Amino acid sequence: MPLAKLNFVHLYPDYMNHYGDAGNIVVLVKRAKWRNIEVTVENITVGDKKSFANADLIYLGGGQGREQLLILPDLMKRKNELFSCIANHVPILAICGGFQLFGQYYQTSMKKTVQCLGLLDYWTIASPKRMVGKIAIRGKINGVEKTIIGFENHTGRTFLGKVQPLGKVLKGHGNNGKDNTEGVLFNNFIGTYLHGPLLPYHPLLADYILKKALAVKHKETRLAPLDNFLEYKAYSNIRV
Ligand code: GLN
Repeated sequence: MPLAKLNFVHLYPDYMNHYGDAGNIVVLVKRAKWRNIEVTVENITVGDKKSFANADLIYLGGGQGREQLLILPDLMKRKNELFSCIANHVPILAICGGFQLFGQYYQTSMKKTVQCLGLLDYWTIASPKRMVGKIAIRGKINGVEKTIIGFENHTGRTFLGKVQPLGKVLKGHGNNGKDNTEGVLFNNFIGTYLHGPLLPYHPLLADYILKKALAVKHKETRLAPLDNFLEYKAYSNIRV
């Protein structure tokens, strides 16, 4: 008998899986199953009519401009559902191109302004210079300061309004290469430029997200400890 049953929604996995970002959902599912928590993953793509009403977690990976524009009309039809998810503290993890689409707009390199979901107070402006390379940021996970590392590859420069960054850039470009911020943390929405994929070598961050998913419908959100030796070995082998 599973301790809990969770429903994860993976948005547009066929379009938005830049740099193997789908590995993030694999980590979340595995770390849940290792704790006897049953997880179903619903893949939702363009044209699907399935609702998020029962979602305990929403995930959207990264993708280049072409894929972003291909999914955006369908994603916009989901705006109210996603607004409810954010308001109800359903955890959302959005990576790079997926992260950009939750903001107010994306101004393309041709100076065309593409309206995005507008659910969070930030916006993105394409720049001629691609921001690529390993990145390290300092952020708080459950109140504990941690150095989070990954790989970034984007031309979009994201600027924050009334939202907090996920962390401060220690090495790399971050949101825009100027203000030293990286990502966004709002309620249980986590947006970040960190590919990698991010979660395989950040077990604390993965468990933080998993606890938020549990909290949507369950009072008990404690997770049994796991042996994270391999995860930390992978983390320590990455030179930023
Ligand atoms: N097309 C976006 C940009 O280049 C996002 C790229 C990505 O998801 N890696 O900024």
